Order: sequence, then structure tokens, then C-alpha cells
Amino acid sequence: MTAELKTRCCIAGGGPAGMMLGYLLARAGIDVIVLEKHGDFLRDFRGDTIHPSTLEVMNELGLYEGLLQRPHHPTPTISANFGDFKVTMADFRHLPVRGRFIAMMPQWDFLNFIADEAQHYSTFRLMLTAEVNNLIEEDGRIAGVIVDTPTGETKIFSDLVIGCDGRSSTVRAKAGLDIVNLGAPMDVLWFRIPRIPSDPDESMGSFGQGVIMVMINRGDYWQCGYVIAKDSLEQARMHGIDFFRSQIAKLAPFLADRADELADLDDLALLTVKVDRLKKWHRPGLLCIGDAAHAMSPIGGVGINLAIQDAVAAANLLIPPLRRGQVTAADLHRVQKRRELPTRVTQAAQVFIQKNVITAVLSGPAQLRPPRAVQLVARWPRLARIPARMVGMGVRPEHPDLTLIDAS
Ligand SMILES: Cc1cc2nc3c(=O)[nH]c(=O)nc-3n(C[C@H](O)[C@H](O)[C@H](O)COP(=O)(O)OP(=O)(O)OC[C@H]3O[C@@H](n4cnc5c(N)ncnc54)[C@H](O)[C@@H]3O)c2cc1C
Repeated sequence: MTAELKTRCCIAGGGPAGMMLGYLLARAGIDVIVLEKHGDFLRDFRGDTIHPSTLEVMNELGLYEGLLQRPHHPTPTISANFGDFKVTMADFRHLPVRGRFIAMMPQWDFLNFIADEAQHYSTFRLMLTAEVNNLIEEDGRIAGVIVDTPTGETKIFSDLVIGCDGRSSTVRAKAGLDIVNLGAPMDVLWFRIPRIPSDPDESMGSFGQGVIMVMINRGDYWQCGYVIAKDSLEQARMHGIDFFRSQIAKLAPFLADRADELADLDDLALLTVKVDRLKKWHRPGLLCIGDAAHAMSPIGGVGINLAIQDAVAAANLLIPPLRRGQVTAADLHRVQKRRELPTRVTQAAQVFIQKNVITAVLSGPAQLRPPRAVQLVARWPRLARIPARMVGMGVRPEHPDLTLIDAS
């Protein structure tokens, strides 16, 4: 027999967007169910970069100290290496916010923290191992979702369904929302290499001839992202593990003594890079935010942070209509209108870098030269504050409206 539940707002997906929105709505006294298809938040190589904009949201919510008690590694600057040419490309230490660094934190620690905080509110309910597989439609309006759970199928009826189920969103597919694909010239292979005290402290991107590797300082290990041309995984695998080890040693000579810690090719996790966005983020009774509305390129590590900003904007704009029990198409469109500009500007910058830097490097020029913008930052280090601002704060940073959220 199909079980039935009712709630004011049903959120599909317990990633950064879904958990943050669930927390904010519950804190505002709105009945919310967050549905997550996995049994926990433990997944490796997710977006683990908590940027200053997100730290500021946590600060404004009174959650800053608590969050930073969880394991994390603060990253105040990021450098870029082009062969022997090294430059600090982003310096977050001058941003006008409390957390002037990127907190490198495993995403499951971040999500567990939000879940723990949300459980303080009786209006919050998190259902794990609950996979949304369809939408309920009544008179042209989405009226809920159908969920697979370990005890069978459940129908959840709600005033509003929010799709936060990521870049391969079931919700957006079932809703038939159109996607604009902006394309990406690369995929990324993620792996770990142990870090020792004599290693550099700074996280960095290293550009070699025909190859790029990002190294993120995670305290006792380096999280490395090896960038390959789009759909070239099989070709890359044919080179064999020794080739990868030699590339690592070339791009980061300080790792040469540990490159063989990469035991075999199965240690490499593939991220298929996508850059896309929905034309329309909503239908009557339904809204998509986060990666479900716009998958971001990994450039700048902004995916989680945009998802959090979307959640804050959605809470600010939807708490009043949700309280009234009447969410109109105009209310939903206001969320898209507010968040579309930051999405478009960020994706335009990512596509520009993909075309002008990534593609150029991956096609393997005879002479590896840092782009002009990088040379300018090397000459005037204060310019490193500009990329820090763009990456760390983003376009149109959001602020939770506490007069609304705490007025339940
Ligand atoms: C390998 C990798 C590395 C990345 N690195 C970075 C980085 O360094 N920095 C950064 O900012 N971003 C990074 N990203 C992107 C970042 O993880 C995402 O942009 C961000 O997590 C988006 O948050 P979200 O909540 O919108 O979606 P997601 O984080 O994708 O969360 C969606 C959630 O929905 C669940 N779900 C999916 N389908 C269903 C369903 N049908 N029913 C119920 N639940 C469902 C999923 O299990 C998941 O928990 C990376 C992504 C990947 C894959």
C-alpha cells in the first residue's frame, strides 16, 4: 500500500542547497521535508570549498563558530604555477567579512552540521534513503512527489516542491524544464596524495604543457584534480598509471617522492564537467535551485556556494507566501529573477576561462606562457584581491533575512 504524507514544502535532494533551504524554512516555522536518496552524506570528492560568502551566511545565522569546530583547513590564498612562474592569484585576507578564507571542509561534515542544527526545529524532517522518482500533478500544478523508500512507495503532498537534486535532477526532468547547455572542454580526475609538513601550504593550480592539475591543501593530504580534455578518459587511461605519476612529479616536484601512492587507475574518480542552466526554473507548484537549476564548471569552486546563495534567496522570497499557504508563479519567478544574474555572470566567466585558458593549455602549446591577466597580478600583487572578491563573494551575495526567518 502507498503511504501518504502532507507537508508545506517538500525538498528533493539533501545537498548544500536542499539542506540549507530546509534549515532556513524550518527555522522560520514552516513544515518541511527534505528527501535524500542516499542513507547518509558520506560521498568523496564533492565540492568541499566553503567560501567567504557562505561563511558570512553562517555568521549571520549565528552558526559560524559551531561550523568551524568541525574539521576544516583554512585557505587564505590560492596560487597559480605556469612552469617556473608562480603567482598568488587570489588573496581572501582583505574581504570585508568575518571569514576571510576558504574553509576546506568535507561536504559530509558541512551537511551533517546543518542537519544537526535543523533537528532543533520540530518543523524539520529529513528522510534518508528516500528517492524521488516522480511528481504528482493535479490540475496543471505540481502537488507533491512520489518517493521510493525502504518500506515502499510514499506519496508526499505539499504546497511547493523544490528540486535540489543536483546536476542530474529527476525533478527537473519529470517537470520537463528546458536546459541550455553551455558546454565544457574538460573533465576532471580527482585523487588524493598524502601531504607532509615540508610541503607548501598554499593550495594551487599548476599549468604544464598540455596539462593542468589543481592541488587543494586538505591538511594531511592533497586533494588533486587532474584536468583532461572532454571525453578523453579512455585515452588518458591507456597511458597507464606510471604516466600519471610522472605528470604529477612534473607539475608538483615536491610530490615526486609520493606519486606512487597512487596505486592504480581506479584511485582516480571522474567528474564529468557540465555547464548548463534551466531556461525557466519553475512551474506552478515547483521550483529548482542549486545544481538542479544550473550546473557549474569546477572553475573557482563556486558550485556549493551558489547553491547556498540560491537557498538563502529562496527562503527570503518564499517564507511569506509559504506561511500564507499560497505560492504563486510570480513568487517563484522572483527567485529565478534574483538568482539568474549571478548564475549567468559566473557561468560567462567560467566559459571565458574554459575557452581562453583551459582549452589553450590542454591543446599543448609549444611555449607555455601565463595569460596576460596572470602576468598583471604578478606585477601588482594587490590585484589578487579582485579574483578573491569574485570567487570568494561572488555576484550579489545573499543575506538571510532574520526579521522574516526568526519571526515565526
Ligand atoms: C567531483 C566533484 C567535485 C566538486 N568540487 C567542487 C568544489 O571544489 N567546490 C564547489 O563549490 N563545488 C564543487 N563541486 C560541485 C558541487 O558539489 C555542487 O555544485 C554542489 O554540491 C551543488 O549543490 P546542490 O545541493 O545543488 O546539489 P548536490 O550537491 O548535487 O546535491 C543533490 C543531492 O540530491 C540527492 N539526490 C539526487 N537525486 C535525488 C532524488 N531523485 N531523490 C532524492 N535525492 C536525490 C543527491 O544524492 C545529493 O545529495 C564538485 C562536484 C563534483 C561532482
